[in-house]
Amino acid sequence: MDKNFNYFNLKLGIIGGGQLGRIMSQKAKKMGFHVTILDPTFNCPAAQVSDKHIIGDFYDKEKLEQLVQESDVTTFELEHVDTLILKELFDHGHIIHPSPYIIELIQNKYEQKKLLDEKGIPVPAYKDVKKEEDLAAFGFPVMQKAKMGGYDGKGVVMLKTEADLQNALPTESFIEELVDIEKELAVIVARNGEGQIKCYSVVEMLFDERVNICDIVMAPAKIAKEIADRAKEIAIQSIEALNGVGIFAVELFLTKKGEILVNEIAPRPHNSGHYTVEACATSQFEQIIRAVTNLPLGSTKLISPAVMVNLLGEEGYEGEPIIEGIHDALEIPELSFHFYGKTFTKPYRKMGHITVLDEDIDKALSKAMKAKDILKIKGSKKL
Ligand code: ADP
Repeated sequence: MDKNFNYFNLKLGIIGGGQLGRIMSQKAKKMGFHVTILDPTFNCPAAQVSDKHIIGDFYDKEKLEQLVQESDVTTFELEHVDTLILKELFDHGHIIHPSPYIIELIQNKYEQKKLLDEKGIPVPAYKDVKKEEDLAAFGFPVMQKAKMGGYDGKGVVMLKTEADLQNALPTESFIEELVDIEKELAVIVARNGEGQIKCYSVVEMLFDERVNICDIVMAPAKIAKEIADRAKEIAIQSIEALNGVGIFAVELFLTKKGEILVNEIAPRPHNSGHYTVEACATSQFEQIIRAVTNLPLGSTKLISPAVMVNLLGEEGYEGEPIIEGIHDALEIPELSFHFYGKTFTKPYRKMGHITVLDEDIDKALSKAMKAKDILKIKGSKKL
């Protein structure tokens, strides 16, 4: 896409129609682009705000081909897709960012880690599991990770003792040393086709221990400046190593000893970057559109500290969502409410989020926690 390209009505294709695709599509529409979504679910969150919806799954070669053929640029909101047909189309000159070769590499957590390691990026010690004995190679406790298909903690188990070997994942996997984690951090990095690269503030992710879903993000992270600088440096090096175009979330561990290690990279907008919609000069969702259409990247400046809280479906309910507490929660100053338009809730499903701003991050956190207590996504059916 060169400088003479007419951006009027640019045709953007997005693989995946969840909440990430939805907000991306809204930002693309702001810029006057035409958006087509590929997703198997009728009336999915992104299709509600897009021009066209191709109904098909992410492994449907024909539908993937149709999307790419109809689009000037195709991008992703998820990485679990068929890359074979996408690589073919990419090799024939269709614009797909990040490249399907990068998506394929990232799909395999082991290959991803190996590449980063070979490029000198600090990662936890890891080892391929070729035979059962390899699971015990680092002693215990140890983390076992499936190479493919994991998300939100699925595909990761801790083997505490030798006795846990019977609970090992029966799939292609690798082991990783158990890191003594002080904090889990993330940095969103954007890179466009000209190689321009920018990163956002380092944020801190807090997890709902019950289900291992990141449910609170604090921006900026409460860490020393040298640590934040180091985290950004490593995040940028990681994306340069991949040579990727788009938006990437680099998930990091800050160890108790003060080291920064890369856990994994998501090649798309990320939950840890939702706060950028209200808190940054350019959101991650507008930034990906700029990056993949080869426009200059926008400023990543953090305009205000922010805390983001995911609104997960309440335990014990499913069915049509019932939003409880919205009137009281929206009384809280500088709170922004997002609901993704999913028509069915179930326990822990990501249904929406809130972002709360405050000049003082601790005040933002206490306002956000108050909102979290008030706002509940229940469902029409009790389980
Ligand atoms: P997923 O892609 O499914 O989210 P991750 O590899 O990010 O899986 O692991 C999920 C969670 O497990 C991490 O957020 C972290 O809390 C924990 N974890 C992962 N790897 C390690 C490790 N090597 N040491 C300690 N904890 C880990």
